[in-house]
This record gives sequence, structure tokens and C-alpha cells, in this order.
Amino acid sequence: MTNRTVLVTGGARGIGKGIARAFVDAGDNVMIADLADPEGWRYALASESELKATAAELGVEATPVDVTDASSCAGAVEATIGAFGGLDVLVNNAGVVDSGPLAEFSEERWDRIFAVNVKGIFLMTRAAVDALRGSEDAAVVNTASIAGKRGAPRMAAYCGSKFAVVGITQSFALELAPDGIRVNALCPGMVGTAMWHDHLMANRAESDFDARMREMIPLGRAQTVDDMGQAAVFLATAPNVSGIALNVAGAYEMH
Ligand code: NAD
Repeated sequence: MTNRTVLVTGGARGIGKGIARAFVDAGDNVMIADLADPEGWRYALASESELKATAAELGVEATPVDVTDASSCAGAVEATIGAFGGLDVLVNNAGVVDSGPLAEFSEERWDRIFAVNVKGIFLMTRAAVDALRGSEDAAVVNTASIAGKRGAPRMAAYCGSKFAVVGITQSFALELAPDGIRVNALCPGMVGTAMWHDHLMANRAESDFDARMREMIPLGRAQTVDDMGQAAVFLATAPNVSGIALNVAGAYEMH
């Protein structure tokens, strides 16, 4: 039981919710932050009611945040400190996906992916760094992806954004090491969240996703949000682990 204070972005659902639950189970105070006023993307993002429902289900606090907006990021950090008195662990998990042929991929879609997946990590970590420096046991976990280890066709924006997350993680790890703040990236494999079911494999049954992953993934199944929660708690807790990008992908990616 660590009794730290943890802020998880994109915590209303999917992997972020699994991560929030794992920190609750570890005995921590958790604030989930998510986009409670979605303008719409290629698939629906989390709503205010989803954020509130998840907070009630997990017994955690919740605050709206748009990680692409600096003042909103500062507000989420302030809300966390207001609720729990400090901040020990920041989990930068909010993200969006899109895919499509290069020739048809719009600048707007490219820019939004980089705004959320890349700039969002910079803005949130910058907003949190003073509070993290005040912690005796501080860590940052950035949700990257195995798409940050290997490119994929029709996925240049998403893969590029996740490669960037790995580079940012390494740079922050070195810059913040003198403050004792560990910074690591989590690289999920394939988790059956909205990204898959509402976009990448939309119009296909969930059982199709499971069957494809059983075939593709050496350990014989898709990853789960609980796999990600367990790994995130490890990355935030291991005292001498910093600057790594940990694959949780059933041996599908080893790089
Ligand atoms: P998801 O869509 O269920 O979760 C993403 C969350 O981010 C949503 O709740 C969404 O509302 C939130 N979000 C989006 N834009 C935001 C913004 N501007 N500000 C605040 N919150 C915002 O999908 P997920 O699979 O749970 O994704 C979580 C993370 O895991 C993402 O970074 C994603 O890229 C990464 N990832 C997912 C997979 C997978 O297979 N599902 C694999 C590798 C990496």
C-alpha cells in the first residue's frame, strides 16, 4: 500500500480506467481526468457522464481536462492538489487514433493526433512538474504504444506520435532524474477499447477482434486493461527504473 496521489488522464474509460483501478487497488488516491466536453473525433470520446460514472464506480475523484490546453492542464493539477494535498504520480494516458492513406490524410487529423498524443504530454507534465518535485516518491508514466516501436501502413500520424512519446519519455527521464522523478513509457499491444471497436475494427464483431488477436499474438490473447494497470503501477513504483518503454504485448513486439 503506497498511499500516493495519482492523476490519470484519459481515465474515464479503456486503458486509463484500468490504470486508475490498479492504483486504487494499490492503496493510492486517484484523480481521473478526461475530456468531458468532446467536440467529436472520428469516434466518440469520453463524455462528462462517463467520467462521473467511472469516478463513482472506482470511488475516485474526477475532473475535466483537455490535455491540448495549457490552462486546462494546470486546472487538473490544481484540482488534484486541492483534493488530496499533493501529486506523486502523473499518468499521461489520454490519446486518440486515426488511420488512412497518406494521400487522403488531412492536416487537421494529423495536427489533432499530435496535439493530444504528443503536446498533451508536454503540457500536462509541465503543469505537474513543480508538484512532482515536492513529492518524496514521484513518477510519470506515459502511455505510448507498440506503434511507438514499429511503423505501420496508413498509421504514420499515430505511429509518429507514439515514437515521439518514447523520445519525450527518455528526455524527461534524464532531465528530471536529479529531482528523483522517474519517467517511463508503457507500450500496450492490442487492447479491445473504443480505439479498436469504434474505429480500427469498427463494424466488426468484438469476437472478430479477439479471434484475430488470438492468432497474431504469441501468448494467444489480446491484452487487457488490467494488464496495463499492473504494468503502470510497476513503472510508477520501481525505484530504479526510469527512461524505459515497456512493451505489454504478449511477445508480439520485443524491440
Ligand atoms: P480510449 O479511446 O478508450 O481512451 C482514450 C481516452 O483519452 C478517452 O477517454 C478520451 O476521452 C481521452 N481523450 C482524448 N482526447 C483527450 C483530450 N484532448 N484531453 C483529455 N482526454 C482526452 O482508448 P484507449 O485504448 O483506452 O487509449 C488509451 C491510451 O492507450 C491512448 O494513449 C492510446 O493511444 C494508447 N494505446 C491503446 C492501445 C489499444 O490497443 N487500445 C494500444 C496502444 C496504445
